[in-house]
Amino acid sequence: MQLLDGKATSEKIKVEIAEQVKLIQAAGGRVPHLAAILVGNDGASETYVNNKVLDCRQVGFESTLIRLPTEVSEEELLKRIDHLNRDKNIDGFIVQVPLPKHIDEARITLAIDPLKDVDGFSPASVGRMCLGMPTFVSATPHGIMELLRRYEVDTEGKHCVVVGRSNIVGTPMSILMSRNSKPGNATVTLVHSRTPNMAEICRTADILIVAIGKPNFVNESMVKEGAVVVDVGITRVTDTTRPSGFRLIGDVEFEAVKDKCSFITPVPGGVGPMTRAALLLNTLKAQSMSKEL
Ligand code: NAP
Repeated sequence: MQLLDGKATSEKIKVEIAEQVKLIQAAGGRVPHLAAILVGNDGASETYVNNKVLDCRQVGFESTLIRLPTEVSEEELLKRIDHLNRDKNIDGFIVQVPLPKHIDEARITLAIDPLKDVDGFSPASVGRMCLGMPTFVSATPHGIMELLRRYEVDTEGKHCVVVGRSNIVGTPMSILMSRNSKPGNATVTLVHSRTPNMAEICRTADILIVAIGKPNFVNESMVKEGAVVVDVGITRVTDTTRPSGFRLIGDVEFEAVKDKCSFITPVPGGVGPMTRAALLLNTLKAQSMSKEL
């Protein structure tokens, strides 16, 4: 078994990005600038956004964090987005989700200029991804593809089973793995909560990508000998022995499954850090995106 080490790989990517930033500066250019809008004070969202700001600092990007109160109106949020869309000093921005219930997430996503949509959630970005056109691929699928690429995992002609069909992970993953690309060219099955015989289908996977948010859902009996397993799931469970008071559990029973796998991602230290690195890659790309689209 070989670990698909997202932490080490993401650190390498960050070093590469920092080098690119130095080249941009040496040529008299402006460093990439990522903005993030955080509405309210959800603990997990705070952590995610703060980490994104720290990542920017680490690679030499500029970053701006816009904090808005939970009760901010949809109109006010749309105004802020319009401002960021027009600001020539901002290359890309994200609106951290989930948003409070009174705000229509779809309306917010639609308001983001596709040229600055570094989260890749807008219909324009998703549509371009489906057509294989230049775009921003959302960070988690982008990070997973980058991890497979860097470990030279052979995906061509393999049976890839993606578990979970969310707009931000499962569905884009299934499209990317089936595309005529490297990695890609897999034969893909997308399974979800209404799929009968899930375990049976998982057992046929050469590559099993799990993104459902159910801790330890995939056990040893669901994994084929020699399979590549990518565990996207992250669930916080209380752990009073840790200073943070919690630990992270993946969707796959790592200890039970690992010896059957050719490659497997750990949780934490697998897909999570790759997602963060992919957002940086998208922000770097945002500087040149207007020329590509
Ligand atoms: P989501 O929007 O809640 O979607 C979950 C998907 O899993 C749905 O398609 C659902 O099916 C399916 N599902 C749920 N229970 C199932 C079951 N018993 N059998 C088969 N399918 C089942 O979740 P998400 O945003 O994709 O996130 C999934 C997990 O990945 C979460 O733990 C999340 O925290 C984690 N995540 C991690 C990262 C990272 O950077 N590592 C990034 C994003 C998400 P239906 O559509 O039929 O309901």
